Amino acid sequence: MFLFFSKLNFVQVEVSTRCQLSCLMCPKSFFRWKAMDMSFEDFKKIPFSRFRYAHLQGWGEPLLNPELGEMIDFAKKSCKVSLTTNGLLLPEWKEEIAKLDLIAISIAGIDGQREVRKTKLEELSEKIETITSLKKRPKVVIATLMMKNTISELPMLVEFAKSIKADELIANNLDYIPSKDLVGYEVFSENPSEEYLRIIETAKKRAEELKINFVARPIKMEEALVCAENPIKNCFITVDCKISPCAYLHIPSEGDEITRFFKGEEIKVKKQYFGYAKEFQKAWKSKVYSDFRGVYERRLFEPHLPLPECCKSCYKAYSL
Ligand code: SF4
Ligand code: SF4
Repeated sequence: MFLFFSKLNFVQVEVSTRCQLSCLMCPKSFFRWKAMDMSFEDFKKIPFSRFRYAHLQGWGEPLLNPELGEMIDFAKKSCKVSLTTNGLLLPEWKEEIAKLDLIAISIAGIDGQREVRKTKLEELSEKIETITSLKKRPKVVIATLMMKNTISELPMLVEFAKSIKADELIANNLDYIPSKDLVGYEVFSENPSEEYLRIIETAKKRAEELKINFVARPIKMEEALVCAENPIKNCFITVDCKISPCAYLHIPSEGDEITRFFKGEEIKVKKQYFGYAKEFQKAWKSKVYSDFRGVYERRLFEPHLPLPECCKSCYKAYSL
């Protein structure tokens, strides 16, 4: 059906907005939350053959969706499939996870796990090893957030990732700040601290010694031509099957606005979506969605053009 269209890169699908945890930095902990699962019926309407990759995760825990197994099988017929999880249900989903191309398990830190996630790292590591010890298994990535209270543990996290036989450690930024309470937890800035840069460098060296991949997102804010989510080639399907350019423009909170704290200031942004997944092609080609992507396409040749209004206060637009 889509034979004449070139492949897009990446579709992120929010299969659940429920979660068993209440992490310190999660927007779920601050807003009135629409907690629900996507149904398999709705999932089947997403045109996976248009994409190279599907990542089954949004603002919630994908392993809580009881139909996740069917979803993985369905998407796998058309593209590579990955997901990010908090890891609590890994043993229960072992067989389905073995079919994935990549699984990312988010971890707050060594002591940070208790402080930020309120769970025990020892228990989680046993669960992760049920996956890393499989004969046939996906690439296993440990994903962490660099925050002021956890970044010092980064070199130890490299050792932890190696000890549980993960393939990679990726250190992300606290790039969405949903509450004033979290302002100041970020480690990035226009002039990043020497101390944080040194910690990242130490973690890199340790990873080289241990022969494990390590990727740390930049912590220096610099406006990018196209943001890291690249809405030209990627998109986000919300839990209720709307098409949005990215997860940062559609949070499953009540109401039609998103609250963000950017450089310490509270900003309200209207949620953005351009039609529904069942009419993907029509929505993708619509004038309003094409115009949104067009801003980024033009910036590649005319870097002085301003970012779309809803992106100006998103940290992802600043190379983080
Ligand atoms: S595990 Fe993820 S979705 Fe769940 S509360 Fe923590 S940050 Fe939010
Ligand atoms: S800058 Fe932020 S809000 Fe804009 S498209 Fe990128 S990730 Fe989404």
